[in-house]
Amino acid sequence: MKLEVSSAIILHHTDYGEADRIVTFLTPDHGRLKGFARAARKSRKRFGAALEPLAEVQMHWVSRSSGDLVSLRDADLVKLRAGLRRDLETLTLAGYGCELTEVLFDDSGAGVEVFQLLQAFLDHLDSEGFSVEARLLLEIRMLSLSGYMPHLQHCADCSSPLPAGQVSFSAFHNGSLCAECDAGRVAIKVDRMTLGTFGRILETPLTRFSGFKLSPQSRQEGQALLNDALRCHLHRPLKSLEMLDRFSPEE
Ligand SMILES: [Zn+2]
Repeated sequence: MKLEVSSAIILHHTDYGEADRIVTFLTPDHGRLKGFARAARKSRKRFGAALEPLAEVQMHWVSRSSGDLVSLRDADLVKLRAGLRRDLETLTLAGYGCELTEVLFDDSGAGVEVFQLLQAFLDHLDSEGFSVEARLLLEIRMLSLSGYMPHLQHCADCSSPLPAGQVSFSAFHNGSLCAECDAGRVAIKVDRMTLGTFGRILETPLTRFSGFKLSPQSRQEGQALLNDALRCHLHRPLKSLEMLDRFSPEE
């Protein structure tokens, strides 16, 4: 049995039995893990607030030879990020970021960049609070890191260049479609300029969230595109999404 130690972000926890807790957490080098915290609810001395969702901790655990749960030994709080609890919008968006990460990446799928992205997202919300841009930036980058980013800048079917103005988009058909390949099948229309904006966002550093201001049109079209792409690839609906959608009003 080897004791492992790593930075970790708590994604969520569920109570188990009388006093125990099962904690899902994300690490830079071990991906997403689930751990069993014995007596976590009875004795707060051992774990304190360190197992609360959104917290960043130094996690100590021992892997088990069988089963997928590791055994949590200790957790030292590094950052609680109290600013995430400033209002319901910010808290909901932060929780959504954690749930999206958990559902989009399976046990071994999340690498160090996923950790850095979620960490930077939570830091940004902690200091700046909710914004539609922060949500879009997280979604675009998470899709890109998961390998599910649809084709944007050329036709996903025939690779031909896209015209200026309105372009059809379908995540089911792998992205943007030229008029011939679409042939009237697709409902989502996105301006070529929104696709260009998304292309430029993908070239910015993964951890930069400040300084982005999208036009109302790009925000609305971009959200429709991302909703379609995420629906296509998530294996279950996100619980936090219904609440979050109340805070991302249609322009
Ligand atoms: Zn085409």
